[in-house]
Amino acid sequence: MSLTRLIGMIARTGTVAEPITAADIEVREGFVPPPCLRGSAQVRHVDAGSCNGCEIEVAAAFGPVYDVERFGARLVASPRHADVVAVTGVVSVNMADPLRNTIEATPNPRVVVSIGDCTRNCGVFADSYAVAGTVDDLTEVDVHVPGCPPAPEAIVAALRAVTQR
Ligand code: SF4
Repeated sequence: MSLTRLIGMIARTGTVAEPITAADIEVREGFVPPPCLRGSAQVRHVDAGSCNGCEIEVAAAFGPVYDVERFGARLVASPRHADVVAVTGVVSVNMADPLRNTIEATPNPRVVVSIGDCTRNCGVFADSYAVAGTVDDLTEVDVHVPGCPPAPEAIVAALRAVTQR
């Protein structure tokens, strides 16, 4: 096949992906993804006190099998470069201020995504002396991914709800 024909086929086919499903995620009522994030959103991930189970699933979502980067979501190292703050785990006493600072350092219009049951109800860590509260206690959450831990497909769906790809 000639290169010209191949390029023509790629142009005609466009992007092929599964439809976005909201089945496994909870989107805040009234949340509208910022139009400037359509197609591309940079994600700062913060582990606020997780058992690491959710991190394994986040790593899988960004790994070669689920590959959420193909939908425009990319991990970045600094909140200054981020559009989305993705939080896992209960908010521990030691991480409450760093999480608050990370959210404040992320430019508007920012989106907060919470991943895992701990972020909403403290999960198995409820009543621990080391727990400051839930992510919902600290900030308004736009998209929540339930589960302990949630499946990578659900994390992908949450980020696609932001990038709309
Ligand atoms: S939701 Fe489950 S897997 Fe995720 S941090 Fe909490 S206990 Fe661990």
